[in-house]
Amino acid sequence: MTSAERILCAANLGQADMVPVAPYLGNHGARLAGVRLDEYCRSGEVMADAQIRTWEVYHQDAVVAQSDNYYIAEGFGLQVEHHPDSTPTASTLPVGELADIEKLRVPDPRTAGRMPVYLDAIARLARHFRGQVAVRAPGTGPFSLAGHLMGTERFLMELAMADQEPDGPEAKLLRRLMELTTDSLIAFAKACLEAGATIVQAGDSLASLDMISPAMYRKWAWPSERRFFGELTPLAQRHGAATLMHICGNMTGVLEPMADTGAMILELDSKVDLATAKRLVGSRVCLMGNLNPVTALWRGSPQEVRLAAKQAIAAAGAGGGFILGSGCEVPPAAPRENLLAMVDAARTWCE
Ligand SMILES: [Zn+2]
Repeated sequence: MTSAERILCAANLGQADMVPVAPYLGNHGARLAGVRLDEYCRSGEVMADAQIRTWEVYHQDAVVAQSDNYYIAEGFGLQVEHHPDSTPTASTLPVGELADIEKLRVPDPRTAGRMPVYLDAIARLARHFRGQVAVRAPGTGPFSLAGHLMGTERFLMELAMADQEPDGPEAKLLRRLMELTTDSLIAFAKACLEAGATIVQAGDSLASLDMISPAMYRKWAWPSERRFFGELTPLAQRHGAATLMHICGNMTGVLEPMADTGAMILELDSKVDLATAKRLVGSRVCLMGNLNPVTALWRGSPQEVRLAAKQAIAAAGAGGGFILGSGCEVPPAAPRENLLAMVDAARTWCE
């Protein structure tokens, strides 16, 4: 099997020849290739070259076009500041007053914000790897994107207030905001598929149960995630690609609704017990994860990484439908020996 075949086999709940392995190596790839993060996140060519050089070191099964969070929000008018060798920070938010939501328009992913940078990186990676290695697109989630547009704290506070008056004008505007963010993510993910992505995703980190209650997740984040995957999964399958959802933190309490979104792969944070996830939803969705990016991949030793990988495969690898991954983004400073140990473990251990 090629790497891409291995990933797609698992995504479709099959058992590949080896456990597929795909740590999330966005900015880590920039550091490994020796390029500055502020150059990396503004050039599709620099991004693709760094990820190719990263793959030449690790030979993992999926490469990623990933860096920061704001490239889609910029299409809505978010202003950012770039800093030397760092990812950008938000400076001016497009939604000051709630009424500003009515002025927002779904941006064209081919021209707006820094979405073209990522589409260019995907196209370059797809050309380079010619379908042999899976190419993972970036993509934030609808709930997180709403937070980028009006500020995270403000967004969560407005939602809490809107819940007091569900039919009030504020609640209506917030529902409109969720509609707009979902539409823009659908448009971006479609453009990623057309650029050659093998995996398209929604990474809805703000919808974490570390940040909001399960009730708020079900009411405000889930319906948009469901609409995203309801549209993207059939389309991805027609492209011979797969869809992925990632939410940071301990999502054990909502694994079933997460599987009900229609995402093909759930990439789980290291706070989720993989054996529990396998028992709850592993028969209907591919699980991916969940080596701790900090304690194992950054601060751990290669022996500790190997042991953690073996335990993850033992917990969730049985019968296939599993990809060995990192619980979240791998820190730039994680030692390469640890990533090599992770990939080697997947090549060595079967469930
Ligand atoms: Zn995460």
